[in-house]
Amino acid sequence: MKRIFSLLLALVMVLGLAALFPPAQAKTGGKLVALTFDDGPGPYTSRLLDGLKERGVEVTFFMVGSSVSRYPELVKRMYQEGHQLANHSYDHPDFTGLSDSEIRSQISRTNALLDKAAGAGSTYMVRAPYGSTNSRVRSVVGAPLTYWSVDPQDWKDRNATTVKNRVVSNAHDGAIILLHDIHSTSVDGALAAIDVLLDEGYEFVTVREMFRRRGVALENGVSYTRCSPTGVDYGPVAEPVISSASVNGKLQITITAQEGTSIYYSLENGTLNQESKRYTGPFTVEAPCTVWAVAAYNMNGDRSKTVSKTFSKMACEPPAIQVTEEGILNLTRVTPGTDLFYTLDGTAATENSTRYTGMVPIEPGTEICACAGGASFFTSATARATYSHLGNFFRDVYMDQWYYPYVDQAVHEGYMLGTGFYEFAPTKPLTRGQLITLLYRYSGETVTQEELDACPFQDLEKDRFYVEAVCWAYAKGIVIGYDETTFGPDNSVKRQEMCKIFGEFLSYRGKLLPEGTGSAEQYTDAAQIPQWAIPYVESMTACGLILGDKEGTFRPGATAIRAQAATLLVRLSELEDTLPDAPTEPVPVEPEPTQPEEPAPVEPEPSEP
Ligand code: ZN
Repeated sequence: MKRIFSLLLALVMVLGLAALFPPAQAKTGGKLVALTFDDGPGPYTSRLLDGLKERGVEVTFFMVGSSVSRYPELVKRMYQEGHQLANHSYDHPDFTGLSDSEIRSQISRTNALLDKAAGAGSTYMVRAPYGSTNSRVRSVVGAPLTYWSVDPQDWKDRNATTVKNRVVSNAHDGAIILLHDIHSTSVDGALAAIDVLLDEGYEFVTVREMFRRRGVALENGVSYTRCSPTGVDYGPVAEPVISSASVNGKLQITITAQEGTSIYYSLENGTLNQESKRYTGPFTVEAPCTVWAVAAYNMNGDRSKTVSKTFSKMACEPPAIQVTEEGILNLTRVTPGTDLFYTLDGTAATENSTRYTGMVPIEPGTEICACAGGASFFTSATARATYSHLGNFFRDVYMDQWYYPYVDQAVHEGYMLGTGFYEFAPTKPLTRGQLITLLYRYSGETVTQEELDACPFQDLEKDRFYVEAVCWAYAKGIVIGYDETTFGPDNSVKRQEMCKIFGEFLSYRGKLLPEGTGSAEQYTDAAQIPQWAIPYVESMTACGLILGDKEGTFRPGATAIRAQAATLLVRLSELEDTLPDAPTEPVPVEPEPTQPEEPAPVEPEPSEP
């Protein structure tokens, strides 16, 4: 007996302590309450919507399908103003007296009408007429069911003050309050109650939002009466953030929102719904314009307030930079009405940089940066170009790049040309056809008709820029192709392959290559070099033509780029005379051509590899 008493005492103490110290909760935020309006829409619903809008309050409407079809515009308005749409049957029968298929028809007809009125795609919560359900009804309904925790009996006592007082005195955190917007007195009473409860610190949310905020996942076939805090407070759906940047002369809009939400936006108006554009990534706009956006877990309830941002300034393009052969800097306005600014010291141009007013003489070895801007424009991106030490003009080669002196030299010597309008495309992959063409051009030789006729490769496209060079290289033993008929002119060149081709080229030129046995071992990735390539990699390394990178790797399988080809050609021109000649073997002396042929005009590199 004594033991039982002390157990009871302990239990009382534990319970008492539990009451004094409720379980630790995450920040639980304010008091939430969900007003629900049944049986509408009706003649007073638009007055209710006006009052809710004025107060910034969102509620849930459990509507009967027969009235939805009478007031579709009101349903659309509810939805656009952030209220939750929900299903209260088609014509208000007691579900417990219906067959399964009759219940399903009551639900599906109203769902279809709601979809039609507000935009398809919602999952509608259900409240059974009279709150009358049983386990069969709940399972047939196929949606979360909503009951209520506060019933002010507004349908019985048609007095606005009575309704207001009952709502106010019974409201509690997590309450679901039952009202009917088909009574004028309920509309007035509800709005008056909202004013009092807002003063008391209540926040009005839709039913769905209340459960989401409290960390409760709604399940189909379950009835929900109230919403207790679970210790998780997810907070209101945060408003999305609209930001902009000037990208390629266009105003680029980025919208970000809380993880897990979808963003809907519009450039036309602030009434957003599921049919509004769904944000999937940054997009560009023409200023002036306004962007409206909303973040939502479910557009039928859990959504943020709509935000908007107006962009009055326009984006603009940076100027086109040109340097004439006389070394005169010329900036050309791309977006009309912009002012142009530039720097000549490699720093990014801003609207505080030197204003461009006309042609500016500049020295070789100058990096030019320029931007556009002005009162009605966002500052453009910076355009950058180089007037090189050797007097070349590049839009895509800059003095701080490792390959700059080589590209400058290779272009100066005429080994390589740009791919287009002052663009060199330094990082573009090099193809086998291009590499052979560069060596052919470097050699200054000309293919003969016999060599062209003897060329065995069947994958050389007639009239392509590389045909003569490849046939010449085959004739000279510099390349042999993948097999007897395949050369692969458009395949990109790997670094290991580049070693072989340069090695064979030097041998053809009669040079004795250092063997450099073991020199590949200095590369940390030496093990990746295939057996056939090792002698070439070693001899190229030993003569200093091809080097590894700063990290000490060789990357034998990496694709060679145009900047590397420029580097190799320049090094080759510097090294070639220092290499000893190979011992001469008796070779048949070729007859001198009777007429020296004109050197072929140098063709520009194709822009496509
Ligand atoms: Zn009802």
